[in-house]
Amino acid sequence: MTDHELTIGGKWRPAVSGATYETVNPYTGRPWARVPDAGAADVDAAVSAARTALDGEWGALTGFERAALMRRLADIVEREAERLAVVETTDNGKLLRETRQQTAGLATWLRYFSGVADKLHGETIPGSKPNYFVYTREEPVGVIAAIVPWNSPLALLHWKLAPALAAGCTLVVKPSESTPASALEYARLVEEAGFPPGVLNVITGQSAELGRALVDHPGVDKIAFTGSPAVGAAIASSAGARLTPVLLELGGKSAQVVLPDADLEAAANGVVAGIFAAGGQTCIAGSRLVVHRDVRERLLGLIVDRAKAIRLGDPLLPETEMGPLANKRQLDTVLGFIDRAVATGASVVAGGRRDPSLGGLFVEPTILTGVARDAEIAQEEVFGPVLTVLDVASEDEAVAVANGTRFSLGAGLWTSDVGRAHRVAARLRAGTVWVNSYRAVAPNVPFGGNGASGWGRENGRHAVDEFLQTKAVWIETSGEVRDPFVVG
Ligand code: NAD
Repeated sequence: MTDHELTIGGKWRPAVSGATYETVNPYTGRPWARVPDAGAADVDAAVSAARTALDGEWGALTGFERAALMRRLADIVEREAERLAVVETTDNGKLLRETRQQTAGLATWLRYFSGVADKLHGETIPGSKPNYFVYTREEPVGVIAAIVPWNSPLALLHWKLAPALAAGCTLVVKPSESTPASALEYARLVEEAGFPPGVLNVITGQSAELGRALVDHPGVDKIAFTGSPAVGAAIASSAGARLTPVLLELGGKSAQVVLPDADLEAAANGVVAGIFAAGGQTCIAGSRLVVHRDVRERLLGLIVDRAKAIRLGDPLLPETEMGPLANKRQLDTVLGFIDRAVATGASVVAGGRRDPSLGGLFVEPTILTGVARDAEIAQEEVFGPVLTVLDVASEDEAVAVANGTRFSLGAGLWTSDVGRAHRVAARLRAGTVWVNSYRAVAPNVPFGGNGASGWGRENGRHAVDEFLQTKAVWIETSGEVRDPFVVG
């Protein structure tokens, strides 16, 4: 059992109440880390520390100095990547081979956005009126509340933290109640890199009250949230009441569209990767297979064979292909979706049950056919290893079915016709379309969705703009006294 403290204003300490709670390793079912169960008083302290850093030492740094700190942090994070990966896997049960790849990538995010930090500047604007010199300044938005989920805690934190630091913001981070350890471990590295106290504050707790206290805090200038549509909507309405801006990365019901000219071996591999990697616990899980009926039988055969052969087991072992779901609540949610789908007429062609041979929170890779397009299982995010198969008879119908949910995060398209690839990619309603691939992300490529999938984009050069505000400065150059009753 490892013990952790909160980090607020550069100091490590317990929650004001002294309360703690234990987080559970989803593979062993045993508690493995004890963390502070913070409350509103800790939120107050964290927001105030973030403000002090912004108005003080951190706010006084140049973009060049921020960039240098970010690059130093990148080197340290790279050094610690393996250890961080083990912490992530122990907390959320994701395969070590995936968390390893994610933590090795964190430095790339820091380095990419460090390259933006020293290139931020305003512009001069030629006057539309005589005798004015006008310029703009790009200033940090301020204190950012960063709230992240359990499926990729550090990676998703970096999608916010790296551009926010580049912009000169400070952060109060609230990780998920079920995966609090990695953000606390990470804060030690931020400290080692030499960031001023209060730039990164981490509060952990098990109640939704903690998140609400952070969202409702008047000292927070912007909320950057990744999580479920339900919580995103609750955050947006409570932030709306105070006019606090919100960046939202929410869920998905992404379609994998397979057209008759596709390479079916490659498509089957991509569909399996999209829904069974990470046990389907990714926002971009390709949970709907939209397949042309000409190739349906052949493709489904390949996918079912592959799904049945997936090796479930200990996420720390290199041969394991699917680990457990991250917590009991998620297990119950996934099994509930499968039961309701079957009760309303879906056929199970693979999986469909909790795996009886393993003690952890495992659900077999599951494939459902015979599903109505408006059925719950075809419309709602499961966040588990469940693929719903929907048949179509034409390209137009494929686009209509793929676009037929309230989500718009990602889509996969499998075709060997280059014209069709561009044509259909343009028609798919999704923030990202992968053609003949799936699940690639990078710091320099925008990511996000609309509708129930969120507001705004993370990643890409312009992600920094989410954390900047523009100030216009007008300087009167004639020195003359102007008519007070005329604008300008
Ligand atoms: P969740 O919405 O339950 O929780 C997300 C975070 O919000 C957690 O830190 C949680 O403690 C906090 N929270 C809960 N209630 C809150 C409240 N009232 N106010 C403030 N904070 C609150 O999501 P989850 O179950 O942890 O993660 C799964 C969801 O995240 C899925 O819907 C998935 O699609 C989504 N997700 C989206 C992306 C993306 O980039 N679009 C990436 C990963 C996951």
